[in-house]
Amino acid sequence: MKILVINCGRSFLKFQLIDSETEAVIAKGLCERIGIEGSKLIYTPTGGEKQEIEEPMEDHKKAVSLVIDALTDKETGVLTSLSEINAVGHRLVHGGEKFASSTLINEEVIAAITECNDLAPLHNPANLIGIRACKELMPDVPQAGVFDTAFHQTMPEEAYLYGIPYEYYEKYRIRRYGFHGTSHSYVSARAAEVLGKKYEDLKIIVCHLGNGASVSAVKNGKCVDTSMGLTPLEGLIMGTRSGDIDPAIIEFLAHKEGRSIDEIMAVLNKKSGVLGLSENVSSDFRDLEDGYNNGDANAIRALKTYCYRVAKYVGSYVAAMNGVDVICFTAGIGENAPLVRNFVCEHLGYLGVELDQEANHKRGEDIAITTPESRTTVMVIPTNEELAIARETVRLAV
Ligand code: ADP
Repeated sequence: MKILVINCGRSFLKFQLIDSETEAVIAKGLCERIGIEGSKLIYTPTGGEKQEIEEPMEDHKKAVSLVIDALTDKETGVLTSLSEINAVGHRLVHGGEKFASSTLINEEVIAAITECNDLAPLHNPANLIGIRACKELMPDVPQAGVFDTAFHQTMPEEAYLYGIPYEYYEKYRIRRYGFHGTSHSYVSARAAEVLGKKYEDLKIIVCHLGNGASVSAVKNGKCVDTSMGLTPLEGLIMGTRSGDIDPAIIEFLAHKEGRSIDEIMAVLNKKSGVLGLSENVSSDFRDLEDGYNNGDANAIRALKTYCYRVAKYVGSYVAAMNGVDVICFTAGIGENAPLVRNFVCEHLGYLGVELDQEANHKRGEDIAITTPESRTTVMVIPTNEELAIARETVRLAV
């Protein structure tokens, strides 16, 4: 079975074609700058050469048709015809309270996703454009939607409610939803599998540390808490997002700097996080690690503050689950930055965490990075959201 996995943003479309039997990636790529001048398709067939095709893409339909052309190209394509694609799986950002699991997409589902647009005004409309483009070009191919929020729908009320008047939850559904659910679900289940233990018997904390970052608490196979909220701005300090702050700072800064709420929100989303904390050294941890190794005070400050926040969330989720068996690191930083894992784990002595430094410096493996004596197991589990989406798509559509 061949599954096309699509992640559609406002001006980009990422895709992977996955063989569901072998779970191998057959080809992958990215359409950049859709609707903007200078758009291009980057296409990489597995085992073949990467190609960059510059071509105007006025909209996502054009982008999907170029992806299909690339996949079925006589010379460099990996399919003989479009009919070889058995199903399409879409990464969808916000399913609100309507979707606690993935779903097959039909007109009713499209209407329900549209109703969640208020909650994710940048992402959901882009996701819907991707769905419509695929429906037009592949009308007979089943399509599934996998939501970033779905895994977190098992959170209890005490974890998802904010301490604000309840009527705002009733009127506007203001609550914590959480994101990166596909990754938290995949990584926690994979950790149990690698350890040879039953998922339903474990208390697992997943630290998904990428450009966006979130922590989740997974108890007996169900998410009971996560650090992102109504939007991805809450929780950890991220590349450019502030994470948790005193909400009164928004009004305070607006007055002091003479700026609008929208402008302050842009600062919190785009100019904060480790970028802002490091006085603009970088939002990229490779640069921050270099800075740290060269004794740059700005990089050290950003790294230490970042890691302290991660450790605090881990601590709060130990409390939420009344214990923890496994702590997992994943995503760009979680998988690739031993320094970050070291700093976080320095705060976890009370859990009996003893890192194995040799294992902590390995890369690209599902691996425990603690010694056999360590009371709590810490692991690195590379995330694979596309594979998780492909698996869900097969489950629903085939
Ligand atoms: P997203 O999917 O949210 O865009 P990723 O999970 O790909 O993000 O993570 C991207 C981040 O991972 C980069 O900004 C960078 O900080 C970090 N990263 C990637 N490779 C390395 C590395 N080798 N060492 C340290 N950090 C890395």
